Amino acid sequence: MTATHALTTGSTPEPRTTDGRPAPPSRSTCAIVGGGPAGLVLGLLLARAGIEVTVFEKHADFLRDFRGDTVHPSTLQTLDDLGLLDRFLTLPHTRVDHIALPDSAGRRVPVVDFSRLPVAHPYVAMVPQWDLLDLVAGAASAEPTFTLVREHEVTGVVRDGDRVTGVTWTSPRGTGTLAADLVVACDGRWSVVRRAVGLPCRGFPVPFDVWWFRLPTDGAVGGSLVPRVAAGRALVTIPREGYLQCAYLAPKGRDSALRAAGIEAFRADLRTLAPELGGEVARLVSMDDVKHLDVRLERLRRWSAPGVLCLGDAAHAMSPVGGVGPVPRPRRVRARTDVVARPRHRARTTHRAGPAVGAPRTGRARASCVRMPANRGVRNAQL
Ligand SMILES: Cc1cc2nc3c(=O)[nH]c(=O)nc-3n(C[C@H](O)[C@H](O)[C@H](O)COP(=O)(O)OP(=O)(O)OC[C@H]3O[C@@H](n4cnc5c(N)ncnc54)[C@H](O)[C@@H]3O)c2cc1C
Repeated sequence: MTATHALTTGSTPEPRTTDGRPAPPSRSTCAIVGGGPAGLVLGLLLARAGIEVTVFEKHADFLRDFRGDTVHPSTLQTLDDLGLLDRFLTLPHTRVDHIALPDSAGRRVPVVDFSRLPVAHPYVAMVPQWDLLDLVAGAASAEPTFTLVREHEVTGVVRDGDRVTGVTWTSPRGTGTLAADLVVACDGRWSVVRRAVGLPCRGFPVPFDVWWFRLPTDGAVGGSLVPRVAAGRALVTIPREGYLQCAYLAPKGRDSALRAAGIEAFRADLRTLAPELGGEVARLVSMDDVKHLDVRLERLRRWSAPGVLCLGDAAHAMSPVGGVGPVPRPRRVRARTDVVARPRHRARTTHRAGPAVGAPRTGRARASCVRMPANRGVRNAQL
């Protein structure tokens, strides 16, 4: 059976709860677990291909701070191909066009100049991840075959023999199951689905962790990222509108010691790293405002099992260095979706003017889809 033969289609109206929020249907062609960048982009692409898709998101909203919020030129191109770039550019964002590193004398040495890239959008846009997720979820919600159920946490998978045939979920309003031809795990680095299926994961050692915090700022902060480096630690300040998003890098395992030392010791260290930020540093009130990211590097050996596919961090948690965490999600998700949905799309007569997966708007986008190798994980999913 090929990947698409078993995909059922159609758009039976699904039940809604009485409080107006979508309730999960009892079955869907595709169940996506997790409404992060990977899950929502996949949901949008599948829905545009006319495939019934239900996305489970355990939180009520996307307002989770300190997630990857770097939108690289390749992702901007993807947004453009999806017809979302104009709306994206209306979001409050800052543009980073180059990155410099300090040399031993403290001089800034340019190491990355995005403006030299031969692409339509040669810069990195810094956008709070929740704004990007709201944008993608809004576009997906316009599709009749798309359902996003918030505050619904997937707790496990349903099986028929060796094959996964659905998921179990819990919400403040009850519990239930959803049957699906395909379950896609987009539930991040602690993926419940991948654990339930028992896919073996290979970890790679990472010597450092990241602590995230904000420093409100009154003035212009420029469009470059200049890490400040000292023995055993570093500080990266990312310009945002009205504040700096800061990443403090230090050896793994230091979180307890940092918190025990307290906010004054932390502020003193920040002033050592970036003396020019003294005023801003004073506005950091408590270690509670400093969020610890346990940096992990892992990769599944196989991204699929019968009835299940893993994508995004659920398949390969990445280092935040370079801000590439959210980058591969939209692009790789799009490539996988093309493989899954292309035959379905061909069979469908066009009834909307908007772009759909399998029918990218530009020749360039078409080429990028075609060049992507058909992923073995998708084929192995045996839909
Ligand atoms: C604290 C933090 C800081 C980060 N900072 C950076 C950074 O600076 N730069 C960078 O490049 N990358 C960073 N990353 C990584 C980047 O955010 C991820 O690579 C990217 O978001 C992965 O996208 P994803 O959709 O695969 O998974 P996620 O963004 O993790 O999304 C998973 C989604 O699934 C939901 N979910 C989880 N379990 C369930 C369940 N059982 N049922 C229903 N829903 C579920 C979660 O609520 C979440 O919305 C950071 C990650 C974290 C956690």
